[in-house]
Order: sequence, then C-alpha cells, then structure tokens
Amino acid sequence: MSCQITASCIGCYNCLEVCPRGAIVEEAGHFAIRVKRCNECRENKPGPRCQLICPVEGAICKMVKLCKAEK
Ligand code: SF4
Ligand code: SF4
Repeated sequence: MSCQITASCIGCYNCLEVCPRGAIVEEAGHFAIRVKRCNECRENKPGPRCQLICPVEGAICKMVKLCKAEK
C-alpha cells in the first residue's frame, strides 16, 4: 500500500522534507512516491505525513484507485 501524488501537485517540496522513509522523489519539478518505500505512515496515528503537510487538497491520496474518489 502506498500513497500517490496526483496532477494537482504544485511542487512546493513540503512532502519531500517530512517523509521519514525517503519515499518521495523529485525530478525536473515532478514529484512522485516510490511505492515500495511508502508504508502510508502506518505508525503515525494522524495519518500520512506527506498528506497532512500538503497545502493542496487532493494532491496526495492513498492508492491510485482512491485518488478520484477523494477529489
Ligand atoms: S505516506 Fe509517509 S512514508 Fe509514504 S510518502 Fe508519505 S510521508 Fe512518506
Ligand atoms: S506537499 Fe503537496 S503540493 Fe507540495 S510537493 Fe508535495 S504533493 Fe506537491
């Protein structure tokens, strides 16, 4: 299970700084989450750290299938 970054991302870098697993990568201004590294911050009760700090609603969601549903 992994979180995903959607096309709504504005490239603010916030999520990159809070991920404890180094799961978020940036290349040429495009942000993505490495599926194999992300564990959806299961140990963090409030939820995924990246999602909590992201200023854009819908830019980070859990799994691609749920992205549309959460918008
Ligand atoms: S959910 Fe947690 S582990 Fe996954 S990318 Fe976000 S901050 Fe990193
Ligand atoms: S915190 Fe949100 S808007 Fe900022 S880079 Fe990450 S996904 Fe994009």
